[in-house]
Amino acid sequence: MASKRGKRRKSCGQKKRYETREEALAVWRSLQRRETHPMRVYPCRFCRGYHVGHMPHKNVRAMENKRMQHG
Ligand SMILES: [Zn+2]
Repeated sequence: MASKRGKRRKSCGQKKRYETREEALAVWRSLQRRETHPMRVYPCRFCRGYHVGHMPHKNVRAMENKRMQHG
């Protein structure tokens, strides 16, 4: 069977893991202040923990479109 270890490395293995969503959110808040790029907290299906990462570009563009529609 093919393993997905390569993917796990990217979205999990190299990232800091948080035990709870609250813990990840606390870090997310402090990052939001200095990062210009939108960040997100997401549950990880590999380690069952939480990670803080940059938002994929697709989502960022969707957000910008929404804002424009609102005027
Ligand atoms: Zn993980």
